[in-house]
Amino acid sequence: MHELGLCEAIVHRVEERAGDRPVARVRVRVGRLHHVHPEAFEQSFTIAAAGGPAEDAVAELVLVPVVARCPACGAETQADELVLACSACGSVEVELTAGDELTLESIEYVA
Ligand SMILES: [Zn+2]
Repeated sequence: MHELGLCEAIVHRVEERAGDRPVARVRVRVGRLHHVHPEAFEQSFTIAAAGGPAEDAVAELVLVPVVARCPACGAETQADELVLACSACGSVEVELTAGDELTLESIEYVA
């Protein structure tokens, strides 16, 4: 379950920022290329956060679609998987512009 390793990395970053403050909610943006399953993510987050300041936090997962831009024709191709060719002209020289991110977008603390 690779979600666990991913959640451990996220929880580590949350704990660095939170210090002793209890965390109410975190929002994480994850590109589709990481193949994260929301259910596994939720379970993994609970395991990774156990015993720390994010123990009772709600983890909100935002899945980011894969987007590739074609330098030849300027078209953008959006997909759930790695884009191998431009959907407009068929060029394989596409540049990935989204889909591999892993961003801790926000942390809300318990008031
Ligand atoms: Zn193109």
